[in-house]
Amino acid sequence: MDTDLARTWVQAIAAAVDKHKDHLTQLDSAIGDADHGVNMKRGFSAVTTALADYKPDTVGAVLVKTGTTLISSVGGASGPLYGGAFRAMGKALDAPTADTQQFATALAAGLESVQKLGAAAPGDKTMIDAYAPALAAFQQHVGAGADFAAAALAAADAAEEGMRATTPMQARKGRASYLGARSIGHQDPGATSTALIFRALAEVVA
Ligand code: ADP
Ligand code: MG
Ligand code: MG
Repeated sequence: MDTDLARTWVQAIAAAVDKHKDHLTQLDSAIGDADHGVNMKRGFSAVTTALADYKPDTVGAVLVKTGTTLISSVGGASGPLYGGAFRAMGKALDAPTADTQQFATALAAGLESVQKLGAAAPGDKTMIDAYAPALAAFQQHVGAGADFAAAALAAADAAEEGMRATTPMQARKGRASYLGARSIGHQDPGATSTALIFRALAEVVA
C-alpha cells in the first residue's frame, strides 16, 4: 500500500458509509440511539474534506489524519473508538509504502486501541466481533504467503461473518448493553460498519 492507495481506501469507506448510512442508523435504532449512520456519515464526510488537499509523506499520515478527524467530528462512542484505531494504525506505518506484514501489524495496533479504550472483549456484541476475526484472517493469510488482495478479501469475509454472528449475542458494552437480554436478536451497528471498512479495503486492493 502507498499513500494514494491509503487515501483511496478511506474514500471508499466514506462512499460505503454514505450508501449504507440509513441501514446503520436503522440497526442502531433497534438497540441504541439511532445515530450510528449519522455519526459515521458526519465523520467520514469530515475526513474526505480533511484529506482533499492533504499531501501525506507516509501511509501512516493518511490514517492518522483520518483518525484525528473522526475523533474531532463524531460525538458518539464510535468516533473515539474508530478515531483511535485509525491513529494507532497510522502510527505503525511510518513509511511511504506498507507491505502486507506491516499492514497486519498496523491492523493489530488498531484493534488494541479499540480494546484499550472501550474495554470490550470478543462476544460483547461490538465492532470487535467483526474486527478481531478480520484481523485473524488477515494475519493467517499473510503468514501463509498470500498477497495483499487475498489477505484483504479473507479479512472482509471474516468481518462479515463476525458481523452476522453478533445477532444472537447479548450486548455487554455500549448503549446496547442497557437493554440486557432485549439486545439479543439484533445485528450490532458497529460490527456492521467495521465490515464495511474491511470490504472497502478488499475492493481497493483487488
Ligand atoms: P453511540 O452508542 O454513542 O450512539 P454509535 O451509535 O456511533 O455511538 O456507535 C455504536 C457502536 O459502537 C456499537 O454498535 C458498538 O459496535 C460500538 N461500541 C460501543 N461501545 C463500545 C466499546 N466499549 N467497545 C467497542 N465498541 C463499542
Ligand atoms: Mg448510537
Ligand atoms: Mg449516540
